[in-house]
Amino acid sequence: MIKLAVISGKGGTGKTMVTAALADLNQRSQVLADCDVDAANLQLLFQSQMISREPFHGLESAIIDASQCRACGLCQELCRFGAIHNGGVYQVDRMHCEGCGVCENQCPEGAITMAKVQNGELFVSETEKGTLVHARLFPGSGTSGLLVHKVKQKAEEMTPHPSWILVDGPPGTGCPLISTVSGMDAVLIVTEPSVSALHDLRRVVTVCRRFGPRIMVLINRYDLEADVCQQIHDYCDNQGLRVIAQLPFDPQVIEAVRKGMPITRFDSPAGKALLHIWEDINSELVANERGRGEKPLP
Ligand code: SF4
Ligand code: SF4
Repeated sequence: MIKLAVISGKGGTGKTMVTAALADLNQRSQVLADCDVDAANLQLLFQSQMISREPFHGLESAIIDASQCRACGLCQELCRFGAIHNGGVYQVDRMHCEGCGVCENQCPEGAITMAKVQNGELFVSETEKGTLVHARLFPGSGTSGLLVHKVKQKAEEMTPHPSWILVDGPPGTGCPLISTVSGMDAVLIVTEPSVSALHDLRRVVTVCRRFGPRIMVLINRYDLEADVCQQIHDYCDNQGLRVIAQLPFDPQVIEAVRKGMPITRFDSPAGKALLHIWEDINSELVANERGRGEKPLP
């Protein structure tokens, strides 16, 4: 099995477009996992049919039984997260409750209990390019890393021997990214020639290095800012990172997204470049897998 995550420190670099292109070009069996649980949209680039959905329960939250509460105010005083308010009766604001359980433990009346709350949903869809696992985190829920873990776990369960697990990662460098990168064989970091993207590239590389996947870099729209593009190359050279490819600015990418299709189905410069990128990544990761002594891919 080969596990590849397409990630980006910064949003809007074209990460999902690249993931969809690689998925479209892969002729082997694969499971797709959309770990951008705050804004999953990989399914929008394929014909997809949802086959299952299940609730996702993250952290527990405190619940106050008003009939037992004697309004002493101790829970409000002790809550470090400012999650308990008194608007006539003491109540818990679930958006701020971190589920630490201190209030339940300290309430002299035993009026507080902890309960699982639904923080999102987990979906499985079928697409023309394989099974897709994706999710939706409810707004304000702070358990995105855990939901990402569930998405990856489900993707691994979906097929006994998938050749590939191809992951569309979240933007940023926080908990969801860490959860995405852990256990991956390789990551493809999609960046672009802008000062903020270079800044975020440095941060995302620092995170990835803690987990040891093979790191590859792709510069999207490389021809828009030559100076910053050269700075990205210099940074990667200094860090011993391989810039696997550069994609030109291509207006047809916008057209492909608008039509809800991978760019590889268009006769376009970006689509052609992605074909070469896929062949490169595929041969490198397959050789790496053989080097680990695993069975050849079907
Ligand atoms: S600690 Fe218990 S009794 Fe006191 S205000 Fe909170 S819920 Fe009510
Ligand atoms: S469980 Fe912790 S965070 Fe939640 S309301 Fe109680 S003290 Fe505050």
